[in-house]
Amino acid sequence: MEKLEMLYEGKAKKVYKTEDEKRYIVAYKDDATAFNGLKKGSIADKGIVNNKMSNLLFAMLEEKGVPTHFEKELNDRDTLVKAVKILPLEVIVRNVAAGSLSKRLGIEEGVQMKSTVLEFSYKNDELGDPMINDYHIEAMSLATKEQVEKVKEYAFKVNEVLKGFFMERGLKLIDFKLEFGIFEDKVILADEISPDTCRLWDAQTNKKMDKDRFRRDLGDVEKTYQEVLERINK
Ligand code: UDP
Repeated sequence: MEKLEMLYEGKAKKVYKTEDEKRYIVAYKDDATAFNGLKKGSIADKGIVNNKMSNLLFAMLEEKGVPTHFEKELNDRDTLVKAVKILPLEVIVRNVAAGSLSKRLGIEEGVQMKSTVLEFSYKNDELGDPMINDYHIEAMSLATKEQVEKVKEYAFKVNEVLKGFFMERGLKLIDFKLEFGIFEDKVILADEISPDTCRLWDAQTNKKMDKDRFRRDLGDVEKTYQEVLERINK
C-alpha cells in the first residue's frame, strides 16, 4: 500500500490517504513540541521508537479485546491504519499524580492516587485543549453518550493491560493520553501510545523515561526513548 495525498500534518505525525478509502498511512516524525507548541525541537529517531512501540502495544491491546486502528507496520516510520474519524477528545488516565494534575490540585508529583482518574480534554489547539466533562461532551455534541461509555470502558481496560505490561519491564505507568476514532460506526482506539503520550518512571529509581525529559530539559532524551523501546521489545 502506498501513500497518496497527505490529509493532515500534525505535530508528530503525517497522515496520508491510500488507494483504499478505508485505510490511511501514518508517518511518524522526529519533531517534538511541548506546552501547546510553545517549545519546539526534534528527538533523533523518536519517530521510529514511537511507531514501533505504538504498534506493539496496539497489537497486544487488540488481543486483549480493545479494538484499535492498527493494521500493519509498513517500515520503520510508516504504519497502515484504519481510516477513522477522530473524536475531538483527549482521554487522560492517571494512576499517580504528575504534570497538570499536580499543578491544578496541589498534589505533589509521585503521589499514588487512591483510584484511577479519568479526564477529558477538548482537542482544540487554539483553546489549549481545555479540560471538559461528560456534560460538555454531550452539550457540544462531541460524542454520543454510548460512545463516551465505550471510550471509558476501553480507557480503563488499556490502563489495566499497560500497567502490568510496563511493570514487568521495570516501568511504572504514571499517566497517559488516548485518542479514539469512529470506524464503521464503532469506537476504536487510534492515535499512538508512546513515550510522547505516557509518563513512564523507572520502577527502581523513579527516573523519568518519557517526554518530560524533553519538556523539562532533563537530558539524555534520545537515549531514554531507545531504552524504553529496548525494554518493551523484551
Ligand atoms: N498528554 C499528551 N498530549 C497532550 C497532553 C497530555 O500526550 O496534549 C499526556 C502527557 O504526556 C501525560 C498525560 O497525557 O502522559 C497527562 O498530561 P498532563 O495533563 O499532566 O499535561 P502536561 O503536564 O503534559 O501538560
